[in-house]
Amino acid sequence: MSEVCSGKSRVFDITIIGGGPSGLFGAFYAGMRQMSTKIIDAQPQLGGQLIALYPEKFIYDMPGFLRIRASELVQHLVEQAMQFSPTVCLNERVIGLERLEEKLFMLKTDKSEHYTKTVLICAGIGAFTPRRLGKPEVERFEGKGVFYTVTDIGAFAGKRVLIVGGGDSAVDWALSLEPIAQKVTLIHRRDQFRAHEHSVEKLMHSSVDVHLLHELETLNGDEFPRKAVIYHNKTGEKKVLAVDAVILALGFTTDIGQIKNWGLEMDGNHIKVDQKMMTNIPGVFAAGDIATYPGKVKLIATGVAEAATAVNQAKVFIDPKARLQPTFSSTFGIPGQV
Ligand SMILES: Cc1cc2nc3c(=O)[nH]c(=O)nc-3n(C[C@H](O)[C@H](O)[C@H](O)COP(=O)(O)OP(=O)(O)OC[C@H]3O[C@@H](n4cnc5c(N)ncnc54)[C@H](O)[C@@H]3O)c2cc1C
Repeated sequence: MSEVCSGKSRVFDITIIGGGPSGLFGAFYAGMRQMSTKIIDAQPQLGGQLIALYPEKFIYDMPGFLRIRASELVQHLVEQAMQFSPTVCLNERVIGLERLEEKLFMLKTDKSEHYTKTVLICAGIGAFTPRRLGKPEVERFEGKGVFYTVTDIGAFAGKRVLIVGGGDSAVDWALSLEPIAQKVTLIHRRDQFRAHEHSVEKLMHSSVDVHLLHELETLNGDEFPRKAVIYHNKTGEKKVLAVDAVILALGFTTDIGQIKNWGLEMDGNHIKVDQKMMTNIPGVFAAGDIATYPGKVKLIATGVAEAATAVNQAKVFIDPKARLQPTFSSTFGIPGQV
């Protein structure tokens, strides 16, 4: 990281809560607008959901990339943002927001206090916890053959992998592991997948062994799982599969924590924003998954665009004489680039 989290009494132009793709691109744009910038994230690393939940998954809908692995996209986003050396505070959760003056906010975290002229909330879906099966006989293998996310795809090379789930993660991991695993089996309790149509079509043309209307009954093994018992949830018919690893892609529960108590106008777990990406508190903006407005689509591409809008608006909020539209001349551009 370019700079340790220090100088907490200093007032930053903008403080970004959340270092996922929206927050990172927001930090880049704030640098472009010559704003002093701080990012605070509760996770031990930058990247948001892409790093915490699906680092090895390919993303097919980023402008300019036919496909890019989530971890690689984060690497590019971090590199792009760090050109302007923002202050980055990791492992720090923001728990309170207080407006001290018209253009002065105090953010209280579980470690400290931070002062800023504007705030950009890019807190995504908040803290995420994977959904468990609720079967102790399966959970006893957690971390020793039972996983909730794929953080190192190479760890599954040559293995017999059972994936449980029917959403995007389940299908994407099945497709990502197919070329390197010895065998990939995917079971889903419903008769249709919830995943992206294109991914499901690829799945159906792949060598992944797909069992719809099937659920995991139990896992047998010593230190590691060796056999999985699955059953057809309409007929009750059981099958025993030899497995080395099981990935439970059952989704996750999320918690946006204290944000709901900050006086922001909310719609469920989302912060309402206007066309400027400004919340009901002047000077406090939101972008990415946490922000909502009529017609909202939650995508990385939309989140980063919203962050760019928010940052340019924050620039004008601080200095009403500043241009809203950024100039693209080298004078205001990237450090070292002409
Ligand atoms: C399995 C899966 C696959 C996906 N695939 C795609 C895809 O192919 N294409 C696509 O466009 N989108 C995809 N998405 C959606 C995409 O990941 C999100 O739209 C994107 O991550 C939103 O980015 P964000 O920066 O708004 O939030 P996030 O990525 O959620 O980042 C938010 C960050 O804020 C931090 N945070 C939260 N609360 C606090 C707090 N109080 N204090 C400090 N830090 C806090 C969190 O720790 C987190 O790091 C996928 C999502 C999932 C789950």
